[in-house]
Amino acid sequence: MGHDNGLSHDEQYSTATTVEEFRTNIAEVERRIAAAAERAGRDRTDIELLPVSKTVPQERIRLAVAAGCTKLGEYKVQEAHRKSEEMSDLDIDWAVIGHLQSNKAKFVAQFASELQALDRLKVARALDRRLQGEGRTLGVYVQVNTSAEDSKFGMPPEELLGFLKEVRAFDSLNVQGLMTLALFSSDIDRVRPCFQMLRSLRDQVRETDPDLLGPGRLSMGMSGDFEVAIEEGANCVRVGQAIFGKRALPDSYYWPEAD
Ligand SMILES: *Cc1c(COP(=O)(O)O)cnc(C)c1O
Repeated sequence: MGHDNGLSHDEQYSTATTVEEFRTNIAEVERRIAAAAERAGRDRTDIELLPVSKTVPQERIRLAVAAGCTKLGEYKVQEAHRKSEEMSDLDIDWAVIGHLQSNKAKFVAQFASELQALDRLKVARALDRRLQGEGRTLGVYVQVNTSAEDSKFGMPPEELLGFLKEVRAFDSLNVQGLMTLALFSSDIDRVRPCFQMLRSLRDQVRETDPDLLGPGRLSMGMSGDFEVAIEEGANCVRVGQAIFGKRALPDSYYWPEAD
């Protein structure tokens, strides 16, 4: 147990409790994103910063929104759904970034603007049916397991192409690209190949049929590794602790199969 991600420098994540502190944390993440993009010769505007607010209570999320956040990532559907109702007075787009069970598809269809963890046909089918009922569409990223760890959700790379061909039939799902969680390791030489694999999968799919992946975006990189992800082509980085502060709960709470 214990994902000791040495890249993340956990102790440095300060918990923002005022709008001003959120502005400071966000500015620092923005600075790191810009520097990584510059190093990689990439355009900053091709990279979305998705703040991840899981476990953060409403009071502090409201401060983050006041500091400029307009879209938030949440891992658990119930938590995201509850927060979307508590903060329905605010204009927030909610992205669900965690594994979804098909029996929760109806909630996602009601409030989410994006699901970044689509990895099974059964879920795609359930979502499409619910979305049709709501008259809504949903942006989706297909999650791929690039680390071959049992603890991670996401489909095996070899199943991706077949999956995308099936997902094309669901009109209410707008495929945005691919998402992955890299290996948890302080060893950058083991993390980077996960990001490289996602990118090369994207490129392979594009060559086979460019229509299968929509804009073909890559969602990869978290507080501890987003600079590496940007160097490898990330279009969306999902950053929690570097903006909101260190989480009290260990990652194994969110990825229970990790132990
Ligand atoms: C929690 C989480 C993140 C953000 O992780 P931090 O270490 O807080 O930056 C990114 N992606 C997923 C899927 C997550 O569950």
